[in-house]
Amino acid sequence: SGEQPAQREATIVGAGLAGALMATLLAQRGWKVEVYESRGDPRIHGFAGGRSINLALAERGLHALRAADADRDVLAQAVMMRGRMVHPADGGTPQLQRYGRDDSEVIWSVSRGELNITLIDAAEAAGATLHFDRRLEAVDFAAQRAFYRGGGGLHRVGFQTLIGCDGAGSTLRAQMRQRADLGERIDWLGHGYKELEIPPAADGGFRIEPNALHIWPRGRYMCIALPNDERTFTVTLFMAMQDEGKGDPSFETVPDATAARALFERDFPDALPLIPELDHDFEANPIGTLGTLYLDRWHLGGHAVLIGDAAHAMVPFHGQGMNCAFEDCVALARHLDATPDLATAYAAFEAERMPDAAAIQKMALDNYIEMRDLVDDPGFLLQRELELALQARHPTRFIPHYAMVTFMRIPYSLALERSEVQRGILEAATQGVASVAEVDLEAVDREVLRSLPPLADIP
Ligand code: FAD
Repeated sequence: SGEQPAQREATIVGAGLAGALMATLLAQRGWKVEVYESRGDPRIHGFAGGRSINLALAERGLHALRAADADRDVLAQAVMMRGRMVHPADGGTPQLQRYGRDDSEVIWSVSRGELNITLIDAAEAAGATLHFDRRLEAVDFAAQRAFYRGGGGLHRVGFQTLIGCDGAGSTLRAQMRQRADLGERIDWLGHGYKELEIPPAADGGFRIEPNALHIWPRGRYMCIALPNDERTFTVTLFMAMQDEGKGDPSFETVPDATAARALFERDFPDALPLIPELDHDFEANPIGTLGTLYLDRWHLGGHAVLIGDAAHAMVPFHGQGMNCAFEDCVALARHLDATPDLATAYAAFEAERMPDAAAIQKMALDNYIEMRDLVDDPGFLLQRELELALQARHPTRFIPHYAMVTFMRIPYSLALERSEVQRGILEAATQGVASVAEVDLEAVDREVLRSLPPLADIP
């Protein structure tokens, strides 16, 4: 009998969404996994937020949860969202715009706290060891030692390799930057967000349609609302941080509850009566900032690698940051399976995922314009109708942009490339046209056949 191969070991920094899933996937493969998380154990202390209260889970994220056998537990607590419910500025009746063709093409609203706890349980069940209240402070890469603060002390612990899942403000990234130029650049969006709550109705039910993502598009700013399984909605107001001199509201010109109430009376009159604690929520909740993080390097040889927000934080408007982070976990586990050499695996992971991260970062920025401005624009709605007609005519070639990102797992970079071709087709075909009936479909068919090769992986 041959020699037993040494057990592979990894130290994961951060037990957030990516960290807990990564720990599960590696522990399932027999790795010895240690996880260090700066916050307390959410199962004991309750979940201390930071980012959004709830999130949209789509096929990419669900697929990763299936790999960790956590999908059923997560879906049991999720609320289905069939499409966007657009609330017009004139107070007219909200309209549902479906995301997909039917209920097989939907997204799921999940609680960040519940999801994190489910994944922490999964990681422990798979054999990972989690250390809470341990904040990474410093790394000595040459000596392969890391320093964690918590429990009243500083703890020095050796490592084989570090996997950085410590989010957009990653300490591991800051430590790696001291050893190598990562080419780091952050583009701040200049817009921020504030979370508010719609409580349950008097009879304990939802106050508005639960199976939708609600949007109040107002041009250069907007509100959205996602349902929670306890019959509440989390409302998020997005607007500029500073006055941009265009007459739009901003966190500078809407600094307090009185100004917020006036803004809601003017622009979101149907939402205002749904948010009884508006004054409290607006005063008590922090303003979240948003930006896109670009790096040229995600790893330091075999010593350390960054994944999720630590590597490529993005603005939240495609609802894909977590979905992308979960895809990272699956991809990294696959590259680690393929070779025992960590540096080789990390380099292959980076080469595969960096173009895809860049693509979804771009699409997320573009989607802010779509959500806050275009969803109630007649030209946009005409293009959307034509998109569905073309999908019915060419199901393997013309797949709507939103569907490629949300319901499929083709690389984000391929989704972006095809979306750009499709947008050109849609814009040309709807030029000077008032309805799909007026579109020259045979000419459009020829263009589709010429420029969009069939896709194999069709949902
Ligand atoms: P995080 O979830 O931020 O986890 C990082 C973890 O590391 C945390 O537990 C933190 O406590 C810990 N940590 C930090 N520093 C240290 C340290 N020094 N030592 C030890 N531990 C540390 N994505 C979607 O897919 N769908 C959505 O609908 C969606 N909506 C969003 C809405 C908003 C307003 C925002 C801001 C983001 C949204 N996202 C969404 C993006 C999503 O939140 C992130 O992409 C996701 O949380 C990334 O996971 P992560 O594990 O990389 O980082």
